[in-house]
Amino acid sequence: MHAALLPGSGPAAAPGAPDFLLAVEALTVSFDGFKAVNDVSFYVDPDEIRVIIGPNGAGKTTVLDLICGRTKASAGSIKYKGTELTRLSESAIVQAGVGRKFQTPSIYDDLTVFENLEISFPRGRTVFGALTFKRDAEVRDRIHEVAAMIFLKDHLDARAEFLSHGQKQWLEIGMLLIQDPELLMLDEPVAGMSVAERRKTAELLHQIIKGRSVLVIEHDMKFVEDIAHRVTVLHQGRVLSEGSMERVKNDPRVIEVYLGH
Ligand code: ADP
Ligand code: MG
Repeated sequence: MHAALLPGSGPAAAPGAPDFLLAVEALTVSFDGFKAVNDVSFYVDPDEIRVIIGPNGAGKTTVLDLICGRTKASAGSIKYKGTELTRLSESAIVQAGVGRKFQTPSIYDDLTVFENLEISFPRGRTVFGALTFKRDAEVRDRIHEVAAMIFLKDHLDARAEFLSHGQKQWLEIGMLLIQDPELLMLDEPVAGMSVAERRKTAELLHQIIKGRSVLVIEHDMKFVEDIAHRVTVLHQGRVLSEGSMERVKNDPRVIEVYLGH
């Protein structure tokens, strides 16, 4: 299912339906002539966990910035379910179903877990319209469902500031999940987590994959092995290698610039 690396070589799709959830092609951005991302192409399948690895400064975070519309591309294309994202605003990209978690959690410390999830629930999406009691029930059910997934169902009334570092990271993933994105992008989600929290985060990612794809930047190779269907290695703004973890970790070029250090 995750064998397709080239456009058109994926499983046969329905006529007119895109093969890939995300197709990044010849993506380039220059900052004052410096190409932080240089002719990058990769393709993400539905239900795939893709991990981007590479040395510091390789351009990993910039790729996520480009996909979520925070940074504008100098050249190339980003197609999400066939829609060109490079022309859309950040909020239109969120509306299209792309969620992004940044390196530092942006949760509201003085609100409870429940309230943090509640304010993240998308407005105006309910089929019940003005029937607020039905909406309230729908929101409450979804909050409980997400809280269970992120291991915080017993902490719904806790103020976010009292959560552990790992729990704060999960809460932020929950705030994205409540919007039900089809593409979820996470920048170094297990940085600073304990071994036990890393294991639970891997479990969480395997669970949330149903019906969506996840694009993760990570340095922890044990964690990458736990979660990745495929790995894309960036180096100096370019794709250096791509494939299964097994393949990538035995690639001499990857060992030389990254894994060997
Ligand atoms: P990574 O996440 O792989 O560590 P980044 O994507 O953060 O790398 O950065 C890639 C390169 O682009 C770095 O050299 C960084 O200094 C540069 N860079 C990133 N954003 C900007 C920006 N807005 N303006 C200028 N240079 C930038
Ligand atoms: Mg980064």
